[in-house]
Amino acid sequence: MDEQVNLSKERNMEQSDIGAHDVLGKKLATHRCSIHPSIDLSIFCRKCNKLICPVCLTQEHQQHTMCDIETIHHEKLGILTNKNHIITNEFMPFFSEENSKLDKILVTHQKHCEKMKLNIMEQDRKLKEEITKQTNTLLQTFENALHSTEEDVNNRKSKLENKLSVLKNNHETIDQVQKSDDIRKICKTADDMLDYVNNENISSAPLPRNNEKYKEGDINTEIISTLIGLLQPITLPDTAEVQFKVLKSFVTDLNAIGKVTSGEKTRIKNSTSSVLREIDLNDELLVLGETNNIKVRDMTVNNSGDLFLAIDNKPKIKMVKNGEKEINDFHQFPIPWIDKPQVPVALHCYRNDQIIAGTVEKGTSMDTVPDNVKRQIVCLSEDTTT
Ligand SMILES: [Zn+2]
Ligand SMILES: [Zn+2]
Repeated sequence: MDEQVNLSKERNMEQSDIGAHDVLGKKLATHRCSIHPSIDLSIFCRKCNKLICPVCLTQEHQQHTMCDIETIHHEKLGILTNKNHIITNEFMPFFSEENSKLDKILVTHQKHCEKMKLNIMEQDRKLKEEITKQTNTLLQTFENALHSTEEDVNNRKSKLENKLSVLKNNHETIDQVQKSDDIRKICKTADDMLDYVNNENISSAPLPRNNEKYKEGDINTEIISTLIGLLQPITLPDTAEVQFKVLKSFVTDLNAIGKVTSGEKTRIKNSTSSVLREIDLNDELLVLGETNNIKVRDMTVNNSGDLFLAIDNKPKIKMVKNGEKEINDFHQFPIPWIDKPQVPVALHCYRNDQIIAGTVEKGTSMDTVPDNVKRQIVCLSEDTTT
């Protein structure tokens, strides 16, 4: 809030004159003092920020800074004009934009869900097509099996028919020859039949029994889901402006005491007693300088010797320029209108022109950071100071 007030003051300076003149000179209604009811409130006490009467002035407001009603009227009108300007030109566009971001992300979700549903239906179509194809292959297997068995059986039967025909001929031949009076023919036929019977094999040929068996598939098995597809959580791309790229979430654990060395300077900090101390490592840790009442969460130094400080639970990074004592603001983290702001908990200087800050949600206890707390790695170029 302090930041807001400071900003507002600056705006007041610029615009305090706007819109005030045309109302000046207007006659204002008078009010009586609540402590001295017979006297009008005619003076403004700047220190107490209230209207007082001349008698009040002689009592508790003697050392205070005063101004007359017209001046404060002018000033307050200026503030109203300025605030109205901010409300109209900054706040309203901002919250309208937030509103439209919500509309956009909703549309993104709608489109995403429709696309996913189409993909699932397409997979359903492909699956059914594939199932039908495989079913037909299974059915065809039995068509083929029966067909080849039929061929085999028919082939065997035609051979058997030949044999039966030969048998019948031989049987008839024997019948005729038995009644014959031709001894040569009887001898010849007897020899032939002897050969025939000796050479004929009547052991059974194995029957064609090979085929396939269909075993029902288990449609309750988990494996079917790999055919259908699985669901995995995703984060849709932010339709709103992205200020920082989240490279990785992380949890940091910091000791109360940290050390930074840069060339000749070494600093230690102690969060519990709120001390930042510059020491000389070569002189038994001689204290060269000390800043109190500063809860430093983490710190880092660039090659130029500038010190960057992450202050405990504050959404900003402060900086001490090399050779200077003064601690100035370096970077202010945005304060979102719904979530808590990110506060830096770890700093690292990278390639001397970037400060990498690990941040967590403001107010997070670092002893046990819950999983649902937002964390970020923020990369800051030093140009952001301008
Ligand atoms: Zn009074
Ligand atoms: Zn006063």
